[in-house]
Amino acid sequence: NLSDRLGATFDKLRGRGALKEQDVRDAMREVRIALLEADVALPVVRRFIDAVTEKAIGQDVLRAVSPGQQVIKIVNDELVRTLGGDPDEEEGAPAPEESRLKLEVKPPAVVMMVGLQGSGKTTSTAKIARYIREKHGKKAMMASLDVARPAAQEQLAVLGQQADIATLPIVPGQQPVDIARRALESARLQNFDVLMLDTAGRLHVDDALMAEMKAVAGAADPAEVLLVVDSLTGQDAVNVAKSFTDEVPLTGVVLTRMDGDARGGAALSMRAVTGKPIKFAGTGEKLDALEAFHPKRVAGRILGMGDVVSLVEKAAATVDAEDAERLAKRMSKGEFDLNDLRTQLKQMQNMGGLGMLAGMLPGMKKAKAAMAASNMDDKVLLHMDAIIGSMTAKERAKPGLMNAKRKKRVAAGSGTQVQDVNKLLKMHQEMSKAMKQIRKMGGLGGLGKLFG
Ligand code: GDP
Ligand code: MG
Repeated sequence: NLSDRLGATFDKLRGRGALKEQDVRDAMREVRIALLEADVALPVVRRFIDAVTEKAIGQDVLRAVSPGQQVIKIVNDELVRTLGGDPDEEEGAPAPEESRLKLEVKPPAVVMMVGLQGSGKTTSTAKIARYIREKHGKKAMMASLDVARPAAQEQLAVLGQQADIATLPIVPGQQPVDIARRALESARLQNFDVLMLDTAGRLHVDDALMAEMKAVAGAADPAEVLLVVDSLTGQDAVNVAKSFTDEVPLTGVVLTRMDGDARGGAALSMRAVTGKPIKFAGTGEKLDALEAFHPKRVAGRILGMGDVVSLVEKAAATVDAEDAERLAKRMSKGEFDLNDLRTQLKQMQNMGGLGMLAGMLPGMKKAKAAMAASNMDDKVLLHMDAIIGSMTAKERAKPGLMNAKRKKRVAAGSGTQVQDVNKLLKMHQEMSKAMKQIRKMGGLGGLGKLFG
């Protein structure tokens, strides 16, 4: 994955003060591949890489993380911003303002759904009507203007029954613009807050479709025109988006099939090509499978980075950079005594303890299970710290000096058992042995290797 690739690229430049132009360009080659693999359109990739390169060159490297990890963070932040989000927002924050539906008009607020056939328009129409009811307590009526496909109008009626949402009665033979007018009138009379207009699609964009969309938009004066695109269609979706953007006043995008194995590249492309916010992500066939769009989540998906990014954030915020650097220096010389172990333990505690580390580092699931099995929890971190604290300076530098009598004293002094002291010494021994691997990576990376 990208993390490994960038790690290799940056292995050789540990310890430099600032990110140099050539280094950043090398890293961007890897980022470019990751983006293309995620199906981001090429021109969008180019523009994005240029923007990130400019930002990254000359940035100071945080001492507690590797330059590779830091570049990932810079790339991630730019992705989040490009997707319309704020990289610094808290986990679980609501979707960004621009991603919310703007329905504050004289009711009924019309939401018009457009897109190719099979993109998920009809399903999304019902999902959004339901979403509006659940989240905003607003009453929506739905109408299908799809007279091109047999049974398309019935399909929407069935979804309406399933979700208990009103649909406009079907009048055979009526044309889209007339249906739209009738729907508006009916919604107004019955005091609906919102009118959802599901429209016809085509297999490909053509003039007739665009003319129809324009006419409907003209008649219904929609508050929102949402382009529905299948995130699995990748590059194609970009051309579709372009055509629609030129012809109808889009206000946002709905990305469907985000539950498939799409890596989210379509989101970045859509945003860049249409200049419109992504408002929803469809995550399944059921009517509750709709999520407000979260730029942070999608950015993580595009990079395939798991939570390395939040790890770097935490590291930047809490790990004492000086300690980490000193430790890295000693490790690079193959030195690692109990003082160093203590520093690492402290870092782990600062970062939220073992459980959190285990949850964040890629490949840590196994280690997490092992820790749980050996009852290694955060209390253990505190105990270990106490044990090391009860030793003399000499013993900390040379753990081999610890004999049975001293172990007993240290256990008593730290409120632990001799077997805990033994466990700690054993752990330190193993860590020293693992030094070869850790040496290359330093601080945090070393911890990842150790447990991963
Ligand atoms: P339309 O032709 O644009 O109206 O597309 P439909 O709404 O009829 O959807 C076509 C198919 O895609 C249906 O089988 C839907 O159940 C399915 N579908 C729509 N959205 C999603 C989604 O977010 N995830 C998955 N897995 N399937 C979806
Ligand atoms: Mg349909």
